[in-house]
Amino acid sequence: MTDPLVRVENLTKTYQDGKQEITALAGINLDIFAKDFLALSGPSGSGKTTLLNLIGALDRPDRGEIRIEGISLSGMNFDQLTLLRRNKIGFIFQAFNLIPVMTALENTAFTMSLQKVDKREREARSREALAAVGLAGYEHRFSNQLSGGQQQRVAVARAIAARPALILADEPTANLDSRNANELLDLMQRLNEEQGITFVFSTHDHRIMERAHRIVPMKDGRITKELHAGEEPSA
Ligand code: ADP
Ligand code: MG
Repeated sequence: MTDPLVRVENLTKTYQDGKQEITALAGINLDIFAKDFLALSGPSGSGKTTLLNLIGALDRPDRGEIRIEGISLSGMNFDQLTLLRRNKIGFIFQAFNLIPVMTALENTAFTMSLQKVDKREREARSREALAAVGLAGYEHRFSNQLSGGQQQRVAVARAIAARPALILADEPTANLDSRNANELLDLMQRLNEEQGITFVFSTHDHRIMERAHRIVPMKDGRITKELHAGEEPSA
């Protein structure tokens, strides 16, 4: 058995909401393997976004451990976590999170500029990534000159151009119409198959679940029974 790319052990996370304590994650154990195409599913409030944020080192758990390539995040300081996010992980959010004053090319190059990739290579890789997501010719458009589907494809281009091992995608199709959602999923599936990029989604979208190799259902901050490709959820 190969070592997991990500190992999540006994993860708990509570939020303080005024005087109330909200348990978002109540003891999560999960191994994510290289080349997984994995969907976290479950109703709103079940803890999917919280789990993605913790795996992506955007937030810290209360208890438990996350290891990426065997290295524990809890032992890392702020700068080490920043480097991990920048170099190993790509993020795709529901709300695209592009920088409006930048063109598609500049947005795509942004993570690479943090990685200190030199300018010429940044531009070449950005053009290549934009072409891969079907946006050749749109390099100099600003976000507000692109449709929602196109903006989400720029977000994917930005993620892949930085060459992460892992892409975390939080409900990436939630703001897309059916045609754009399917095109985006085709693209991510191709990147998974051809470039071996690992994808972890949070979603209620049945189209993502149909394509996922693993479906990890969540409820009330816990993982219920995991399903594998081709298995039908029991009623
Ligand atoms: P999902 O992505 O599955 O909808 P979330 O991870 O966003 O679930 O939320 C899990 C639980 O944690 C919910 O009860 C939610 O209201 C709560 N929660 C999430 N973020 C915060 C926050 N920043 N402050 C307080 N409660 C939060
Ligand atoms: Mg969410």
